[in-house]
Amino acid sequence: MAILPIRLFGDPVLREKGRPVTKFDARLQKIADDMIETMEAARGAGLAAPQVGLQMRMFVYDIGEGPGVVVNPELSDFSGTYIYEEGCLSLPGIYVEIERPMTVRCCYRDLDGTPHEIVADELLGRVFQHETDHCDGLFFTLRAEKEKRKEAMRAMRETLMPGEKEYIPNREARTGAARREGARVL
Ligand code: ZN
Repeated sequence: MAILPIRLFGDPVLREKGRPVTKFDARLQKIADDMIETMEAARGAGLAAPQVGLQMRMFVYDIGEGPGVVVNPELSDFSGTYIYEEGCLSLPGIYVEIERPMTVRCCYRDLDGTPHEIVADELLGRVFQHETDHCDGLFFTLRAEKEKRKEAMRAMRETLMPGEKEYIPNREARTGAARREGARVL
């Protein structure tokens, strides 16, 4: 397994739509393993393929119950509302309060290509929505209210170093130091 560099906001790969996965092979398994190791090193609750430079519809997650892998996510049946302060591994140290649906149904494939369906709510529902957005080339700040988005953009300019494109996560540096109590990075 390997820890992969995490791409930062501004990298074009984060604005591109991921391609659906068609080959459920050993390479896909390896990518999933590396993404899980990277997410754990960054202490994230989720990590999508575009965040490690891969234009694929796939993400990994772990909300404290062990890691899971979601391939080709399709969300439907949104219901309720839920306000939550989201962070993103591609924008370390910045947290934005965002209202999204509370509950969502996710149809996806596992690493063998077998179809599954899960109804996710609260934090898990939030992770699935944030990561599926990454797969669609959408950054979480787009989901924030205008004023909160502006505030995040201001903070971002102070946070990101000019020319900085990616970082290697570890438990101490960057994401660890900038972690906010109670909030999760996705
Ligand atoms: Zn993110």
